[in-house]
Amino acid sequence: MKTSAKLIVLGSINADHILNLDAFPTPGETVTGHHYQVAFGGKGANQAVAAGRSGASIAFIACTGDDDTGERVRQQLVRDNIDIAPVSVVEGESTGVALIFVNGEGENVIGIHAGANAALSLDRVEAQRALIAQADALLMQLESPVESVLAAAKIAHENHTTVVLNPAPARVLSDELLALVDIITPNETEAEKLTGIRVENDDDAARAASALHAKGIKTVIITLGSRGVWASVDGNGRRVAGFKVNAVDTIAAGDTFNGALVTALLEGNGLDEAIRFAHAAAAIAVTRKGAQPSVPWRKEIDAFLS
Ligand code: ADP
Repeated sequence: MKTSAKLIVLGSINADHILNLDAFPTPGETVTGHHYQVAFGGKGANQAVAAGRSGASIAFIACTGDDDTGERVRQQLVRDNIDIAPVSVVEGESTGVALIFVNGEGENVIGIHAGANAALSLDRVEAQRALIAQADALLMQLESPVESVLAAAKIAHENHTTVVLNPAPARVLSDELLALVDIITPNETEAEKLTGIRVENDDDAARAASALHAKGIKTVIITLGSRGVWASVDGNGRRVAGFKVNAVDTIAAGDTFNGALVTALLEGNGLDEAIRFAHAAAAIAVTRKGAQPSVPWRKEIDAFLS
């Protein structure tokens, strides 16, 4: 019987420096922005926060630096209902940083310094073996060393912990890792990187999903921005539309979707119901600025859906 935290998120923690400007600068150009904000982000932390705020019982395996930012991030994660016992404080390292430009269309471009995230080593994963083995699901992304993601997936797979991989940012992955994944949630760019299939419509999404099923993944959910998702189980696919909202900033849309999706699945919901819940959470997030400041709490998601 599995008794400890139901969900483990393994991933990155960043401090996001966000500058809103009318248009992205071109090489050599300097552009003055009109709004600047520092907010906590990192795909791992965003997904952990989305799960914590939407009601999951969750522990987070991650690393911060031993700087002030790390201290403040850890305090905030606790306020977001997350067990941070498996978060390591790495001596002499800085907490990860993301520099984000958001243009007038709400699109973003991002540069990242991994900092302490690069210290999420095999040893640190091994130290959390029992936690991963006893969990119901393990949710990961690709802002952590990929060998650590693989090691954690192996531990989970051996112990019947559902492996959920949000393969972001986009990169090619080994067949060995993909074969350990139960649920994969790429966006269009990531799906193309993994399969070589450019995803521009539902037929493309179905073909990309088939290519991922062929790697041994049972459930493929390709997120399609405002068009919702392509959800495919064992090759039976359909599009599940999202909610129409006035998007101001899509930072953390996918992260919110992932955290909320896994939360709803762990509550015993069917896939379509869990996707609807995740669409609602992500729709709320895109109406707000920033990463974690935009992630809704459970009561906001329930109110949106009622
Ligand atoms: P990512 O942020 O990883 O690129 P997507 O852009 O595909 O992910 O969006 C993930 C999810 O966020 C979508 O499936 C949807 O639920 C929601 N979403 C994204 N953009 C919008 C939007 N403009 N309006 C409503 N929901 C959105």
